[in-house]
Amino acid sequence: MSRGGPDGPFRVALTFDAEHPDRPSRPGVQERLLDALDRHGVHASFFVQGRWAEAYPETARRIPQGGHLVGNHSHYHARMPLLSARGLRSDITAARDAIIEHTGVDPLPWFRCPFGAGVGDKRVQGFVRAAGYRHVGWHVAGIDWPAERTGADVEEAVVRGAIAHGDGCVVLLHTWPDRTEDAMDGIVRRLRDAGAEFARIDELPFVPEDEVPDAEVVEGAAAVAPSAA
Ligand SMILES: [Zn+2]
Repeated sequence: MSRGGPDGPFRVALTFDAEHPDRPSRPGVQERLLDALDRHGVHASFFVQGRWAEAYPETARRIPQGGHLVGNHSHYHARMPLLSARGLRSDITAARDAIIEHTGVDPLPWFRCPFGAGVGDKRVQGFVRAAGYRHVGWHVAGIDWPAERTGADVEEAVVRGAIAHGDGCVVLLHTWPDRTEDAMDGIVRRLRDAGAEFARIDELPFVPEDEVPDAEVVEGAAAVAPSAA
C-alpha cells in the first residue's frame, strides 16, 4: 500500500551513519551491509565520520562506488553543542578533508549532527550553514544502536514507520550494528512489496532538516545538550 497518493511514488531514503562503533559488533558487518545494498540494487545515503574514513579507507571508497550519496557526519563525532566556535569550524572542515581524501567525493552540502545533538541549536546550525551545508534529520529511526534490540525489531520499526509516513520518508540507520545487517533483507523486501522505491536524499523533493525523532536515545545520548556558554 503506497502512501504516495493514488498514483504518486512512495520513495524511501535509507540513510546510514558510518562511524566508529561505540559498541562491539561482528567483524565485516560494514562491508556486508554494502554487499547487501549492491545485491538488492539499492542506492542509499551515508553520513561519514571523518576519522572513520581515515581508519577504513577501502570501505569508505566503496560507498560512492556503490552509487550511494556521501554526506558529512563530523570528524570526531562529538556532541556539537559542546564545541567552541573554533572547534565547530575545525571539526566540520577536518571531516570534509578526510572524506574527500578517502572517498574521492565532496560531502557538501549534506551534513548530519552526531547523536542528533545540535539540531534546533541556532549557534550550531549557524556554523553548519556557514560551512555550506544543509542539515539532514530523519522521519523514522530504526533504533539499531541498543544492544538489546534484534534485527527483527529494527526491521519492524523501519517497515512500519516508513509505510505510516509515506512518500519521501528518511530513515536513520547505522553501518556498524549487527542488527542492521540482520534487518536489511527484510526491510528491502517488505518495503518493495508495499510499493516503495529506494531513493537517495538528493532525489527527494523535501529533506527533514530539523526533525530527529527518537534522538534523545540515539546512541545512548541526550539529544540536545545545552549550548556551551
Ligand atoms: Zn553518529
